[in-house]
Amino acid sequence: MINKMSKKYVYDFEEGDPKNKALFGGKGAGLALMTQAGLPVPPGFTITTDACRDFFQQRKQEIDEIVKQLEKGVPPQVRDELIKKLWGIIDTLSLPAGLMDEVREHMKKLEMKRGRKFGDKNNPLLVSVRSGAPVSMPGMMDTVLNLGLNDETVKGLAQQTNNERFAYDSYRRFLQLYGKIVLGIDDKKFDETLNKIKQKYNAKNDIDLDTNALKELVEEYKKIIREEKGEFIQDYWYQLEMAIKAVFRSWMNPRAIFYRIANKITPEIAGCTAVTVQSMVFGNMGMDSGTGVVFSRNVATGENEIYGEFLPNAQGEDVVAGIRTPMHISDLKERFPSLYQDLYKNLKMLEKVNKDVQDVEFTVEKGKLFFLQTRDAKMTPLARVKTAVDMAKEGILTKEEAILKVKPEHVLQLLYPKVDETSAPKPIAKGLAASPGAVYGQVVFDPDDAVEWAKRGKEVILVRVETKPDDVHGFYAAKGILTSRGGMTSHAAVVARGIGKTAVVGAEEIQIDYEKKEFRVNGVVIKEGDIITIDGNTGNVYLGKVPTVQPKVGGELQELLTWADQVRVLKVKANADVPEDARIAREYGAEGIGLLRIERMFRRPERLEKLRKVILSETTEERTAAMEELSEMIKKDFKEMLSIMDGLPVTIRLIDPPLHEFLPKPEELLRQIYEAKMSGASEDKIKDLEKLYKKVEALVEANPMMGHRGVRVGITFPEVYRGLTRAILEAQAELIKEGKNPIVQIMIPQVAIADEIKFVKEKAILPTAEEIQKKYEIKLNFKIGTMIETVRGAITADEIAKNVEFFSFGTNDLTQATFSFSRDDVENKFLPKYLELEILKNNPFEVIDEKGVGELVKIAVQKGRSVNPNIEIGVCGEHGGDPTSIEFFHKIGGIDYVSASPFRILVARLAAAHAAIKNKKSL
Ligand code: PEP
Ligand code: MG
Repeated sequence: MINKMSKKYVYDFEEGDPKNKALFGGKGAGLALMTQAGLPVPPGFTITTDACRDFFQQRKQEIDEIVKQLEKGVPPQVRDELIKKLWGIIDTLSLPAGLMDEVREHMKKLEMKRGRKFGDKNNPLLVSVRSGAPVSMPGMMDTVLNLGLNDETVKGLAQQTNNERFAYDSYRRFLQLYGKIVLGIDDKKFDETLNKIKQKYNAKNDIDLDTNALKELVEEYKKIIREEKGEFIQDYWYQLEMAIKAVFRSWMNPRAIFYRIANKITPEIAGCTAVTVQSMVFGNMGMDSGTGVVFSRNVATGENEIYGEFLPNAQGEDVVAGIRTPMHISDLKERFPSLYQDLYKNLKMLEKVNKDVQDVEFTVEKGKLFFLQTRDAKMTPLARVKTAVDMAKEGILTKEEAILKVKPEHVLQLLYPKVDETSAPKPIAKGLAASPGAVYGQVVFDPDDAVEWAKRGKEVILVRVETKPDDVHGFYAAKGILTSRGGMTSHAAVVARGIGKTAVVGAEEIQIDYEKKEFRVNGVVIKEGDIITIDGNTGNVYLGKVPTVQPKVGGELQELLTWADQVRVLKVKANADVPEDARIAREYGAEGIGLLRIERMFRRPERLEKLRKVILSETTEERTAAMEELSEMIKKDFKEMLSIMDGLPVTIRLIDPPLHEFLPKPEELLRQIYEAKMSGASEDKIKDLEKLYKKVEALVEANPMMGHRGVRVGITFPEVYRGLTRAILEAQAELIKEGKNPIVQIMIPQVAIADEIKFVKEKAILPTAEEIQKKYEIKLNFKIGTMIETVRGAITADEIAKNVEFFSFGTNDLTQATFSFSRDDVENKFLPKYLELEILKNNPFEVIDEKGVGELVKIAVQKGRSVNPNIEIGVCGEHGGDPTSIEFFHKIGGIDYVSASPFRILVARLAAAHAAIKNKKSL
């Protein structure tokens, strides 16, 4: 049971703790901060997240059960059923005991501060009731504005403000929000009625409706409520209670649940929403009033300029909903210069205090500025990097704080392609560049269709007039979003930036027809399924698929990475098998190649054929001869790779995969034999095929991943390892002769027993090196090392370390071996179930399993270093590019580098810096 005496649920803004977002929510904390810093904030109070938790606690188990099912992702029909059930349960909940008594006390204080009275017929106090989670979830939860209005108080408001039109405008807004949010009536019903009235009174926009039209609208809205949910209840205390409940409930609306899943917002990060109740100030009191959203810097480019939008004669939700395209903040500067100065000064102050770019909501009531909310802004990765670097240079952040501002994964988005302007056709339309990247896809007009099409493997662009929070599932499914209405702070823009989707918004020339599933622009008709390209860097929209280019690393990103390089302890190398990958890796700052998988060089048909000959040879002589030829073929590839990485170490792994992967499948050969016989092929041809079939069949293994592969091939056929070594070291020798500085490291895979290494060193690598040194009359320097990827290899790492100069953890195979999970099969088979049931928290092939695989790594590092202190140790499994795993590798100590795929090099550099900074802090 809730112990009322020990809990205080409600805090005035003056007494809230600006630092405690977990309790007050982002909005409550921001309002407390601004109030306490003396900014003009309409007074109010915050109901804590504790109250929300206690609210749901009443039937927590049943609720959690349903949320879990929704998380699994169920078909739309089941989803709707579950949500209905969930809301049925929530409707039975009552507010925690004593909460409304506290609310009444605080409302009294509010009345005193504003000199108005809640529900008063002459001088009514109106409030907003708003959600505010501990982390920002833009537009995902609900808000009710203008609460305190009914048939009587609306007259009082008209009198108080001497503005009847305004009073009824506020009342109709209240009825719509209350109807939608509290009573759950479909918003369309209100929108349709609004449109009808607009048509009737010949009004283009809502601001063109006069008092009579608004009065009629109010009656129509009440009628909708009556028909749907019974008579509109005039009791304002009842309305307040219901609104608080509705905001709590909105924590569990499907889009909020979905947003939390997609953004990995766990209950530990944000457990529930707070509610702020704030006295209203009015942006809809005429053209000297309005509402706006402003960022302390440009959230698209990161430029240090205040940036935002202002909508005259409007209320808060209008800007976010993208109902009218707002004016730029610079127009505000012209219209209200002193107000602009005030805004600017306070924004900069908030930025300093919060140590981040701020996203501020404000209202102007008859020329007077009020702050309604401040929070850390969501930005494009480009802006995130630029603002972090700039703020460090301005002394607002330390370099280390600046590094921590940029999530390692986000830098991937900076490498998103851009449209190649030099060869692109003329755009068909232009909107605002709301979220970067250039993507193409088939046009769809409905979020549900986006989900359906994506499921069928299609790439889609979701095209909407404007988007609402309910469309958010379509965002995740689409590759990009295009809207014809709304500004940079419209819902579509904010959400797309938040989840890293490319978006172009407010492309006003395009005319969308949902019925016909098409849009028109300058005489071109684009139908559902047609392909378009959108460029969120420029706002351009193109017909068809347009060529793109890869951006270069430069400017602030380069600077930030240099700072990151100064603090990180782990080196970063690349997994690269072909010259293209090696070039990218070097450009992105790789400190060498940590894994070159030799087998990728055998993909070309003539090489594969040679390799097959090697595998199928019957005598050592035959095999040696075939190997010589293959060796000659791949030597030039090594030369190219070593040249690209000149001066940096290149770790080349001797052949690793099971041999059957290089051979035709027995079934395929049987088919060929059958076809040869049917088509009357020659006896000889049939005999050859049958011979081949027999050989291939003899090589079939029940468990090829545990079979004849890796070092085991080097032991059974040392001539294979000799041939490979020859290609590598001849390449090195020739480059040295050419005056280059190739640094070679030869790596032996799949080792479980120290003597395996001894054998291949003595029988293959060293004698070959000897021969080559003689042949080229040169002294070669190269290191010999091994993969640690078998369990025995890890446990006997001390014995192994005596024979090698480096270790590289093959955490892919080590994970497979430790779990006995087939790395090729689990992801499509049972792993999803494990994750759903939380038997595993993460896919262990993505994020290192610290307790099992990680423990083996630790043991191997300690044992290896104990006998060979100078041994170089790295990680070259996929975990080498995963930030969480990188942090683990940093923490355990003794590891020198991680090796990641070329596009993850920047992620790894930054993640290694994060690990070093965080670890230092926790000392
Ligand atoms: C590994 O096993 O982690 C590894 C890097 O090798 P591969 O993925 O080629 O088996
Ligand atoms: Mg491996």
